[in-house]
Amino acid sequence: MVTPGLVSVVRGGPSGLAAAIALARQDIPVTVYEQHRDVGVRFHGDFQGLENWTSEEDVLSWLAGLGIALDCRYRPTHEVTLVDPALVPAQVRADRPLLYLVKRGSDADSLDSCLRVQAETAGVRFEFGRRVDPGDLPEPVIVATGPRGTQAVVAGIVAETSHPDQLVVIARDSLAPKCYAYCIVWRGRATLAAALAREFHSAWQCFERARAAFAILGLSEFHHEHRFGGRANICLRRQLVQARRLYVGEAAGLQDYLLGFGLRYALLSGHLAARSLLTGEPYAGPVSRCLREHFRAGFVNRLLYNQLGDRGYRWFIRWMHRGGDVRQRARRVYSLTPLHRVLWPLARAMARRDGCLDVRETTR
Ligand SMILES: Cc1cc2nc3c(=O)[nH]c(=O)nc-3n(C[C@H](O)[C@H](O)[C@H](O)COP(=O)(O)OP(=O)(O)OC[C@H]3O[C@@H](n4cnc5c(N)ncnc54)[C@H](O)[C@@H]3O)c2cc1C
Repeated sequence: MVTPGLVSVVRGGPSGLAAAIALARQDIPVTVYEQHRDVGVRFHGDFQGLENWTSEEDVLSWLAGLGIALDCRYRPTHEVTLVDPALVPAQVRADRPLLYLVKRGSDADSLDSCLRVQAETAGVRFEFGRRVDPGDLPEPVIVATGPRGTQAVVAGIVAETSHPDQLVVIARDSLAPKCYAYCIVWRGRATLAAALAREFHSAWQCFERARAAFAILGLSEFHHEHRFGGRANICLRRQLVQARRLYVGEAAGLQDYLLGFGLRYALLSGHLAARSLLTGEPYAGPVSRCLREHFRAGFVNRLLYNQLGDRGYRWFIRWMHRGGDVRQRARRVYSLTPLHRVLWPLARAMARRDGCLDVRETTR
Protein backbone atom coordinates (compact mmCIF):
# COMPACT_ATOMS: atom_id res chain seq x y z
CA MET A 1 0.00 0.00 0.00
CA VAL A 2 1.33 3.44 -0.86
CA THR A 3 2.22 5.65 2.09
CA PRO A 4 0.85 9.11 1.43
CA GLY A 5 3.80 10.68 -0.29
CA LEU A 6 4.71 11.38 -3.80
CA VAL A 7 3.95 9.06 -6.70
CA SER A 8 5.74 10.00 -9.87
CA VAL A 9 4.34 9.19 -13.26
CA VAL A 10 6.79 9.49 -16.07
CA ARG A 11 5.10 10.87 -19.14
CA GLY A 12 1.56 11.86 -19.75
CA GLY A 13 0.04 9.47 -22.28
CA PRO A 14 -3.30 7.72 -21.65
CA SER A 15 -1.70 5.03 -19.46
CA GLY A 16 0.11 7.52 -17.23
CA LEU A 17 -2.92 9.81 -16.98
CA ALA A 18 -5.29 6.93 -16.10
CA ALA A 19 -2.92 5.99 -13.26
CA ALA A 20 -2.53 9.59 -12.11
CA ILE A 21 -6.31 10.19 -12.06
CA ALA A 22 -6.98 7.06 -9.98
CA LEU A 23 -4.25 7.94 -7.45
CA ALA A 24 -5.11 11.62 -7.10
CA ARG A 25 -8.79 10.79 -6.51
CA GLN A 26 -7.64 8.90 -3.40
CA ASP A 27 -5.75 12.00 -2.24
CA ILE A 28 -2.32 10.61 -3.12
CA PRO A 29 -0.04 13.44 -4.29
CA VAL A 30 0.97 12.69 -7.88
CA THR A 31 3.37 14.44 -10.20
CA VAL A 32 3.34 13.69 -13.92
CA TYR A 33 6.60 14.44 -15.72
CA GLU A 34 6.11 15.01 -19.43
CA GLN A 35 9.03 16.00 -21.59
CA HIS A 36 6.88 18.00 -24.02
CA ARG A 37 5.11 21.31 -23.42
CA ASP A 38 1.74 19.51 -23.14
CA VAL A 39 0.14 16.09 -23.22
CA GLY A 40 -0.58 14.49 -26.60
CA VAL A 41 2.32 16.11 -28.44
CA ARG A 42 3.31 12.68 -29.82
CA PHE A 43 0.11 12.86 -31.92
CA HIS A 44 -1.01 15.35 -34.50
CA GLY A 45 -4.77 15.77 -34.36
CA ASP A 46 -5.14 12.41 -36.10
CA PHE A 47 -8.22 10.31 -35.39
CA GLN A 48 -8.02 7.02 -33.54
CA GLY A 49 -10.65 4.49 -32.55
CA LEU A 50 -11.50 3.39 -29.04
CA GLU A 51 -12.52 -0.14 -29.95
CA ASN A 52 -15.78 -1.51 -28.62
CA TRP A 53 -15.53 -5.19 -29.50
CA THR A 54 -13.24 -6.82 -26.93
CA SER A 55 -15.89 -6.65 -24.20
CA GLU A 56 -19.64 -7.17 -24.30
CA GLU A 57 -19.93 -4.12 -22.04
CA ASP A 58 -19.84 -0.86 -23.98
CA VAL A 59 -16.44 0.80 -23.77
CA LEU A 60 -17.97 4.02 -22.41
CA SER A 61 -19.38 2.27 -19.36
CA TRP A 62 -16.15 0.24 -19.11
CA LEU A 63 -14.29 3.58 -18.97
CA ALA A 64 -16.70 4.88 -16.34
CA GLY A 65 -15.76 1.80 -14.29
CA LEU A 66 -12.15 3.06 -14.41
CA GLY A 67 -13.37 6.47 -13.21
CA ILE A 68 -12.79 8.07 -16.60
CA ALA A 69 -15.38 10.04 -18.54
CA LEU A 70 -15.05 10.38 -22.29
CA ASP A 71 -15.93 14.07 -22.18
CA CYS A 72 -13.98 15.00 -25.29
CA ARG A 73 -15.43 15.07 -28.80
CA TYR A 74 -16.15 11.52 -29.95
CA ARG A 75 -18.16 9.80 -32.63
CA PRO A 76 -19.79 6.37 -32.30
CA THR A 77 -19.09 4.44 -35.49
CA HIS A 78 -21.34 1.57 -36.59
CA GLU A 79 -20.14 1.12 -40.18
CA VAL A 80 -16.77 0.38 -41.76
CA THR A 81 -15.89 -0.19 -45.40
CA LEU A 82 -13.40 -3.05 -45.67
CA VAL A 83 -11.54 -3.10 -48.97
CA ASP A 84 -9.81 -6.22 -50.25
CA PRO A 85 -6.48 -6.30 -52.15
CA ALA A 86 -8.31 -6.07 -55.51
CA LEU A 87 -9.84 -2.82 -54.15
CA VAL A 88 -13.32 -4.34 -53.93
CA PRO A 89 -15.16 -2.63 -51.06
CA ALA A 90 -17.50 -4.39 -48.62
CA GLN A 91 -19.50 -2.45 -46.10
CA VAL A 92 -19.90 -4.07 -42.70
CA ARG A 93 -22.23 -2.92 -39.94
CA ALA A 94 -22.72 -3.37 -36.23
CA ASP A 95 -25.90 -2.85 -34.22
CA ARG A 96 -23.96 -1.17 -31.44
CA PRO A 97 -20.91 1.07 -32.06
CA LEU A 98 -17.95 -0.89 -33.37
CA LEU A 99 -15.68 1.85 -32.07
CA TYR A 100 -15.70 5.46 -30.88
CA LEU A 101 -13.59 7.86 -32.90
CA VAL A 102 -11.49 10.27 -30.85
CA LYS A 103 -8.91 12.87 -31.74
CA ARG A 104 -5.33 12.53 -30.43
CA GLY A 105 -2.99 15.43 -29.76
CA SER A 106 -2.92 18.59 -27.69
CA ASP A 107 -6.02 20.37 -29.03
CA ALA A 108 -8.65 21.14 -26.40
CA ASP A 109 -11.07 18.58 -27.88
CA SER A 110 -8.55 15.71 -27.97
CA LEU A 111 -8.69 12.60 -25.78
CA ASP A 112 -5.31 13.55 -24.30
CA SER A 113 -6.47 17.03 -23.23
CA CYS A 114 -9.68 15.61 -21.81
CA LEU A 115 -7.64 13.20 -19.66
CA ARG A 116 -5.32 16.02 -18.62
CA VAL A 117 -8.28 18.14 -17.44
CA GLN A 118 -9.67 15.21 -15.42
CA ALA A 119 -6.23 14.70 -13.88
CA GLU A 120 -5.86 18.40 -13.01
CA THR A 121 -9.33 18.45 -11.48
CA ALA A 122 -8.35 15.47 -9.33
CA GLY A 123 -5.29 17.42 -8.13
CA VAL A 124 -2.50 15.96 -10.26
CA ARG A 125 0.56 18.20 -10.59
CA PHE A 126 2.22 18.40 -14.03
CA GLU A 127 5.80 19.22 -14.79
CA PHE A 128 5.95 19.86 -18.51
CA GLY A 129 9.16 20.18 -20.48
CA ARG A 130 11.04 17.90 -18.05
CA ARG A 131 12.74 14.84 -19.37
CA VAL A 132 13.47 12.54 -16.48
CA ASP A 133 14.91 9.07 -16.14
CA PRO A 134 12.51 6.87 -14.10
CA GLY A 135 15.55 5.49 -12.25
CA ASP A 136 16.36 8.98 -10.91
CA LEU A 137 13.00 9.45 -9.19
CA PRO A 138 12.06 8.30 -5.69
CA GLU A 139 9.88 5.20 -5.85
CA PRO A 140 7.10 4.33 -6.39
CA VAL A 141 7.20 5.33 -10.01
CA ILE A 142 4.73 4.52 -12.75
CA VAL A 143 6.61 4.28 -16.01
CA ALA A 144 4.35 5.29 -18.89
CA THR A 145 6.93 6.24 -21.46
CA GLY A 146 5.13 4.87 -24.51
CA PRO A 147 6.65 2.60 -27.16
CA ARG A 148 10.18 1.36 -26.48
CA GLY A 149 10.76 -0.69 -29.59
CA THR A 150 9.21 -0.51 -33.02
CA GLN A 151 7.15 -3.41 -34.31
CA ALA A 152 4.77 -1.32 -36.38
CA VAL A 153 5.08 2.02 -38.13
CA VAL A 154 2.43 4.47 -39.31
CA ALA A 155 2.92 7.12 -42.02
CA GLY A 156 0.08 9.43 -42.95
CA ILE A 157 -1.51 12.85 -43.22
CA VAL A 158 -4.17 14.84 -41.47
CA ALA A 159 -6.03 17.14 -43.83
CA GLU A 160 -9.22 19.05 -44.55
CA THR A 161 -11.71 17.39 -46.85
CA SER A 162 -15.18 17.74 -48.31
CA HIS A 163 -15.88 13.98 -48.22
CA PRO A 164 -18.70 12.76 -45.99
CA ASP A 165 -17.95 11.03 -42.68
CA GLN A 166 -16.68 7.48 -43.15
CA LEU A 167 -14.11 4.89 -42.12
CA VAL A 168 -12.43 2.89 -44.89
CA VAL A 169 -9.77 0.21 -44.34
CA ILE A 170 -7.69 -1.46 -47.07
CA ALA A 171 -5.82 -4.74 -46.57
CA ARG A 172 -3.13 -5.16 -49.24
CA ASP A 173 0.52 -5.97 -48.68
CA SER A 174 1.94 -3.60 -51.32
CA LEU A 175 0.55 -0.57 -49.50
CA ALA A 176 0.51 -1.75 -45.88
CA PRO A 177 2.72 -4.83 -45.41
CA LYS A 178 1.09 -7.25 -42.91
CA CYS A 179 -1.13 -4.46 -41.60
CA TYR A 180 -3.65 -2.07 -43.20
CA ALA A 181 -4.21 1.40 -44.62
CA TYR A 182 -7.04 3.54 -43.29
CA CYS A 183 -8.96 6.69 -44.09
CA ILE A 184 -11.12 8.30 -41.43
CA VAL A 185 -13.30 11.29 -42.34
CA TRP A 186 -15.09 13.13 -39.57
CA ARG A 187 -16.72 16.55 -39.91
CA GLY A 188 -14.49 17.87 -42.68
CA ARG A 189 -11.23 16.51 -41.25
CA ALA A 190 -9.45 13.41 -42.52
CA THR A 191 -6.77 11.06 -41.32
CA LEU A 192 -5.25 8.98 -44.12
CA ALA A 193 -2.45 6.56 -43.26
CA ALA A 194 -0.61 3.34 -43.97
CA ALA A 195 0.27 1.12 -41.02
CA LEU A 196 3.10 -1.35 -41.63
CA ALA A 197 4.21 -4.36 -39.64
CA ARG A 198 7.14 -4.98 -42.03
CA GLU A 199 9.40 -3.02 -44.41
CA PHE A 200 9.48 0.11 -42.28
CA HIS A 201 12.03 1.77 -44.57
CA SER A 202 9.33 2.04 -47.27
CA ALA A 203 6.68 3.67 -45.05
CA TRP A 204 6.25 6.81 -47.13
CA GLN A 205 6.25 4.94 -50.45
CA CYS A 206 3.56 2.69 -48.97
CA PHE A 207 1.62 5.74 -47.87
CA GLU A 208 1.73 7.18 -51.43
CA ARG A 209 0.45 3.85 -52.80
CA ALA A 210 -2.29 3.86 -50.18
CA ARG A 211 -3.26 7.38 -51.16
CA ALA A 212 -3.49 6.31 -54.81
CA ALA A 213 -5.68 3.36 -53.82
CA PHE A 214 -8.01 5.60 -51.81
CA ALA A 215 -8.21 7.92 -54.84
CA ILE A 216 -9.40 4.98 -56.97
CA LEU A 217 -12.10 4.46 -54.33
CA GLY A 218 -13.15 8.11 -54.76
CA LEU A 219 -11.35 9.56 -51.74
CA SER A 220 -9.03 12.15 -53.26
CA GLU A 221 -10.08 15.61 -51.99
CA PHE A 222 -7.57 16.51 -49.29
CA HIS A 223 -6.35 20.05 -48.58
CA HIS A 224 -4.00 21.70 -46.08
CA GLU A 225 -2.24 18.43 -45.45
CA HIS A 226 0.16 17.80 -42.60
CA ARG A 227 2.25 14.69 -42.50
CA PHE A 228 2.52 12.60 -39.36
CA GLY A 229 4.23 9.40 -38.35
CA GLY A 230 4.08 7.05 -35.40
CA ARG A 231 5.20 3.71 -34.13
CA ALA A 232 3.90 0.95 -31.92
CA ASN A 233 5.51 -1.46 -29.50
CA ILE A 234 4.03 -4.94 -29.45
CA CYS A 235 6.87 -6.56 -27.56
CA LEU A 236 5.73 -7.58 -24.12
CA ARG A 237 8.12 -6.53 -21.34
CA ARG A 238 9.68 -9.35 -19.37
CA GLN A 239 8.84 -7.84 -16.01
CA LEU A 240 5.99 -5.42 -15.49
CA VAL A 241 7.36 -4.49 -12.06
CA GLN A 242 10.98 -3.77 -11.20
CA ALA A 243 11.63 -2.75 -7.61
CA ARG A 244 8.76 -0.28 -7.14
CA ARG A 245 8.67 0.79 -10.75
CA LEU A 246 5.46 -0.27 -12.46
CA TYR A 247 5.42 -0.34 -16.27
CA VAL A 248 2.14 0.49 -17.98
CA GLY A 249 0.74 0.89 -21.52
CA GLU A 250 3.13 0.60 -24.42
CA ALA A 251 6.13 1.04 -22.13
CA ALA A 252 5.21 -2.50 -20.99
CA GLY A 253 4.44 -3.67 -24.54
CA LEU A 254 0.72 -3.87 -23.70
CA GLN A 255 -0.91 -3.56 -27.09
CA ASP A 256 -3.41 -5.15 -29.42
CA TYR A 257 -1.02 -7.43 -31.31
CA LEU A 258 -3.26 -7.79 -34.34
CA LEU A 259 -4.45 -4.28 -35.24
CA GLY A 260 -2.69 -1.89 -32.84
CA PHE A 261 -5.76 -0.72 -30.90
CA GLY A 262 -3.68 -0.11 -27.77
CA LEU A 263 -5.74 2.59 -26.04
CA ARG A 264 -7.79 0.26 -23.86
CA TYR A 265 -4.68 -1.65 -22.78
CA ALA A 266 -3.01 1.64 -21.86
CA LEU A 267 -5.95 2.92 -19.81
CA LEU A 268 -6.58 -0.41 -18.08
CA SER A 269 -2.95 -1.04 -17.15
CA GLY A 270 -2.57 2.52 -15.81
CA HIS A 271 -5.65 2.05 -13.66
CA LEU A 272 -4.48 -1.35 -12.38
CA ALA A 273 -1.03 0.02 -11.52
CA ALA A 274 -2.65 2.77 -9.44
CA ARG A 275 -4.91 0.23 -7.73
CA SER A 276 -1.91 -1.91 -6.90
CA LEU A 277 -0.19 1.05 -5.22
CA LEU A 278 -3.38 1.95 -3.37
CA THR A 279 -4.22 -1.53 -2.08
CA GLY A 280 -0.88 -3.30 -1.95
CA GLU A 281 -2.22 -5.99 -4.32
CA PRO A 282 0.28 -7.19 -6.91
CA TYR A 283 0.15 -5.45 -10.27
CA ALA A 284 1.36 -8.07 -12.75
CA GLY A 285 -1.19 -10.68 -11.62
CA PRO A 286 -4.33 -8.63 -12.30
CA VAL A 287 -2.91 -7.43 -15.64
CA SER A 288 -2.30 -11.05 -16.62
CA ARG A 289 -5.75 -12.14 -15.44
CA CYS A 290 -7.54 -9.32 -17.29
CA LEU A 291 -5.53 -9.62 -20.47
CA ARG A 292 -4.39 -13.26 -20.66
CA GLU A 293 -7.06 -14.26 -23.20
CA HIS A 294 -6.37 -11.17 -25.29
CA PHE A 295 -2.62 -11.79 -25.23
CA ARG A 296 -3.00 -15.36 -26.37
CA ALA A 297 -5.64 -14.63 -28.98
CA GLY A 298 -3.63 -11.58 -30.08
CA PHE A 299 -0.37 -13.45 -30.62
CA VAL A 300 -2.15 -16.22 -32.52
CA ASN A 301 -4.03 -13.66 -34.63
CA ARG A 302 -0.76 -11.93 -35.46
CA LEU A 303 0.85 -15.24 -36.38
CA LEU A 304 -2.07 -16.04 -38.71
CA TYR A 305 -2.25 -12.54 -40.21
CA ASN A 306 1.48 -12.66 -40.96
CA GLN A 307 0.89 -15.84 -42.99
CA LEU A 308 -2.24 -14.67 -44.81
CA GLY A 309 -1.04 -12.43 -47.64
CA ASP A 310 -3.40 -10.83 -50.14
CA ARG A 311 -5.44 -13.98 -50.85
CA GLY A 312 -5.95 -14.53 -47.16
CA TYR A 313 -7.04 -10.92 -46.58
CA ARG A 314 -9.65 -11.33 -49.32
CA TRP A 315 -10.99 -14.43 -47.60
CA PHE A 316 -10.96 -12.70 -44.20
CA ILE A 317 -12.89 -9.69 -45.50
CA ARG A 318 -15.47 -11.97 -47.13
CA TRP A 319 -15.87 -13.77 -43.82
CA MET A 320 -16.35 -10.46 -41.98
CA HIS A 321 -18.88 -9.40 -44.62
CA ARG A 322 -20.83 -12.64 -44.61
CA GLY A 323 -23.75 -11.08 -42.78
CA GLY A 324 -24.62 -10.64 -39.17
CA ASP A 325 -23.22 -8.16 -36.75
CA VAL A 326 -19.56 -7.33 -37.46
CA ARG A 327 -18.97 -6.44 -33.80
CA GLN A 328 -19.81 -10.01 -32.82
CA ARG A 329 -17.46 -11.31 -35.52
CA ALA A 330 -14.68 -9.06 -34.26
CA ARG A 331 -15.37 -10.32 -30.73
CA ARG A 332 -14.90 -13.88 -31.94
CA VAL A 333 -11.57 -13.02 -33.56
CA TYR A 334 -10.34 -11.52 -30.27
CA SER A 335 -11.62 -14.37 -28.06
CA LEU A 336 -9.73 -17.51 -27.20
CA THR A 337 -11.46 -20.00 -29.53
CA PRO A 338 -10.44 -23.68 -29.86
CA LEU A 339 -8.35 -22.68 -32.92
CA HIS A 340 -6.46 -20.13 -30.81
CA ARG A 341 -5.85 -22.72 -28.10
CA VAL A 342 -4.41 -25.19 -30.61
CA LEU A 343 -2.13 -22.60 -32.20
CA TRP A 344 -1.08 -20.89 -28.99
CA PRO A 345 2.06 -23.03 -28.34
CA LEU A 346 3.29 -22.26 -31.85
CA ALA A 347 2.56 -18.52 -31.51
CA ARG A 348 4.32 -18.49 -28.13
CA ALA A 349 7.37 -20.26 -29.53
CA MET A 350 7.60 -17.80 -32.42
CA ALA A 351 7.17 -14.78 -30.16
CA ARG A 352 9.91 -16.13 -27.89
CA ARG A 353 12.15 -16.78 -30.87
CA ASP A 354 11.71 -13.12 -31.83
CA GLY A 355 12.69 -12.16 -28.28
CA CYS A 356 9.34 -10.46 -27.88
CA LEU A 357 8.04 -11.95 -24.67
CA ASP A 358 8.61 -14.30 -21.85
CA VAL A 359 5.06 -15.53 -21.58
CA ARG A 360 5.76 -17.74 -18.58
CA GLU A 361 6.58 -14.74 -16.45
CA THR A 362 3.99 -12.35 -17.71
CA THR A 363 0.81 -14.26 -18.34
CA ARG A 364 0.68 -16.88 -15.59
C1 LIG B 1 -0.49 6.58 -35.64
C2 LIG B 1 -1.09 5.75 -34.54
C3 LIG B 1 -2.42 5.40 -34.61
C4 LIG B 1 -2.99 4.64 -33.59
N1 LIG B 1 -4.31 4.34 -33.67
C5 LIG B 1 -4.92 3.73 -32.62
C6 LIG B 1 -6.32 3.50 -32.63
O1 LIG B 1 -7.04 3.83 -33.58
N2 LIG B 1 -6.88 2.91 -31.53
C7 LIG B 1 -6.12 2.54 -30.44
O2 LIG B 1 -6.69 2.00 -29.47
N3 LIG B 1 -4.79 2.73 -30.42
C8 LIG B 1 -4.18 3.32 -31.47
N4 LIG B 1 -2.82 3.54 -31.45
C9 LIG B 1 -2.07 3.08 -30.27
C10 LIG B 1 -2.27 4.02 -29.07
O3 LIG B 1 -2.12 5.35 -29.49
C11 LIG B 1 -1.25 3.70 -28.02
O4 LIG B 1 -1.33 2.33 -27.71
C12 LIG B 1 -1.46 4.50 -26.74
O5 LIG B 1 -1.35 5.88 -26.98
C13 LIG B 1 -0.41 4.09 -25.73
O6 LIG B 1 -0.52 4.93 -24.61
P1 LIG B 1 0.70 5.08 -23.62
O7 LIG B 1 0.24 5.96 -22.52
O8 LIG B 1 1.24 3.75 -23.27
O9 LIG B 1 1.85 5.78 -24.46
P2 LIG B 1 1.86 7.16 -25.28
O10 LIG B 1 0.51 7.55 -25.72
O11 LIG B 1 2.92 7.00 -26.29
O12 LIG B 1 2.32 8.22 -24.22
C14 LIG B 1 3.64 8.25 -23.76
C15 LIG B 1 4.15 9.67 -23.56
O13 LIG B 1 5.58 9.54 -23.71
C16 LIG B 1 6.07 10.51 -24.64
N5 LIG B 1 6.79 9.86 -25.75
C17 LIG B 1 6.67 8.61 -26.16
N6 LIG B 1 7.46 8.35 -27.21
C18 LIG B 1 8.09 9.49 -27.46
C19 LIG B 1 9.04 9.88 -28.40
N7 LIG B 1 9.48 9.03 -29.32
N8 LIG B 1 9.46 11.13 -28.40
C20 LIG B 1 9.05 11.97 -27.48
N9 LIG B 1 8.17 11.66 -26.55
C21 LIG B 1 7.69 10.44 -26.55
C22 LIG B 1 4.96 11.29 -25.19
O14 LIG B 1 5.20 12.63 -24.89
C23 LIG B 1 3.69 10.73 -24.53
O15 LIG B 1 3.06 11.75 -23.84
C24 LIG B 1 -2.21 4.24 -32.46
C25 LIG B 1 -0.85 4.58 -32.41
C26 LIG B 1 -0.29 5.32 -33.43
C27 LIG B 1 1.16 5.67 -33.36
